Amino acid sequence: MRVGLPHMGNIYIPLKALFQRLNVDYVIPPAYNQRTMSLGVKYSPEGLCLPFKLTLGNLIEAAELGADTLLMAGGYGVCRLGYYAKIQEQILHDLGYDVEVVNLGVSERKLFGLLELIKRLANNAPWSKIIPAFRFGLAKLGALDRVERVVQKVRAVELVKGTANKLFTKAINAIDQADDYATLKQVQTDYISQLNQVDKDAEYKPLIVGIVGELYVVLEPFSNLDVEVELGKLGVEVRRRLFISEWTKFSLFLNPLGIDETERIHKAALPYLKRDIGGDGWESVGEKVLHSKEYDGLVHLAPFTCMPEIVARNIMTSTKENIPVLTILCDEQIAKPGMLTRLEAFVDLLEHRRRAGNNSR
Ligand code: SF4
Repeated sequence: MRVGLPHMGNIYIPLKALFQRLNVDYVIPPAYNQRTMSLGVKYSPEGLCLPFKLTLGNLIEAAELGADTLLMAGGYGVCRLGYYAKIQEQILHDLGYDVEVVNLGVSERKLFGLLELIKRLANNAPWSKIIPAFRFGLAKLGALDRVERVVQKVRAVELVKGTANKLFTKAINAIDQADDYATLKQVQTDYISQLNQVDKDAEYKPLIVGIVGELYVVLEPFSNLDVEVELGKLGVEVRRRLFISEWTKFSLFLNPLGIDETERIHKAALPYLKRDIGGDGWESVGEKVLHSKEYDGLVHLAPFTCMPEIVARNIMTSTKENIPVLTILCDEQIAKPGMLTRLEAFVDLLEHRRRAGNNSR
């Protein structure tokens, strides 16, 4: 058995650590690139959302590298995600790959389901090996996200644009290489300290923009054309709720105990939307309401044809909370120059509002 999985942000790093510690044979497909996109678009039904197309392209690349057991996120919600693994498996079979696409099923089976799957992938390794390997993967996930939160702040105020990104790339590699807790902790501390020492404009008060929308396009920079980096270049500090480590913490550990991080967000959305509409649509609406007084604006990332975010978008334009929202529809047609023009115009608008005293921050 050789395991493969599509990319989503840096999630491959903790999974790689887990697989290495459990001696699982695995392949990491290439980072998303134009070929991945072309493969995904070519073999997907046209109307499907970008996450389906990109992950399919990456699964094909993993199969080309010899993976025969492909891991894919799934869900039981009201959007199409629940069908992804099955349909992608059928497409891969039609292409001649003898593979099994395994639905991770984290939404349904939570922690225990995931651990059982890991046990199966690790050829029935003992729990005394699986649990420490799993914990070390989680530690890497946490380190990645802690460094990224600092990067988001530094990008907006650094004097030499691009410094934080360079440090972040090095930090990602160092976290990937770290092989024990002490090294991992040291790497995290070192890079956060280096980021804090980057030369900054102490007088500058950056605009604050929240990033909301569908989980995959929020977390995968290739799919959103590096929107956070581009906003950083324009001197904007981005904030987002969605981090893989946070999602894991709640989804695997706290939700089963009845602690729901989205309760507050859903409550905020209630005047406009009273039920789950699949994906992250309910949360997008709630976040607009919640953050209308904290942020200068919101960038709403929505895969083209994603029904939950289409519904959210239409509601977001008509709430009484007065905060500008720029919706970016992510698909294979999106091009960087067009997106940059829209981001620049959006940031101009936010600056104008701030000068005019229109925002309530
Ligand atoms: S939330 Fe939207 S983009 Fe994500 S899987 Fe569902 S339909 Fe596709």
